[in-house]
Amino acid sequence: MTDTTIFGKIIRRELPADIVYEDDELIAFNDIAPQAPVHVLFVPKTPIATLNDLQPDQAAIVGKLAHAAAAYAQRKGFAEDGYRIVMNCNGHGGQTVFQLHLHLLAGAPLGRFGT
Ligand code: 5GP
Repeated sequence: MTDTTIFGKIIRRELPADIVYEDDELIAFNDIAPQAPVHVLFVPKTPIATLNDLQPDQAAIVGKLAHAAAAYAQRKGFAEDGYRIVMNCNGHGGQTVFQLHLHLLAGAPLGRFGT
């Protein structure tokens, strides 16, 4: 199955992005509309529309996204200050791009969330 979303196009280099990390399984690039001083999206290369669509044999990719985000924070030197990772799912979660992705937000105190 082909990922027809914007993120699929970035993975295939059909759209430009500020790519900060890539390996065989995932890609990471800066968000086009950052919500914090650091806002990086970690996206699996396998097409998975939402967290609801994640199959048991695909579950490890979520750990890989989280590990890649933590490794990025370590490399960039803000791991000890801290950061937030977020995955939005469907309408109430605020998901707008229907290819699974993890947001890494950092670079300033982020405050509480939930509204
Ligand atoms: P969601 O709302 O689905 O959790 O997050 C989608 C994110 O993708 C948003 O933060 C949005 O700013 C970002 N985004 C949407 N289109 C593009 C794009 O073309 N390039 C990049 N780098 N980010 C995008």
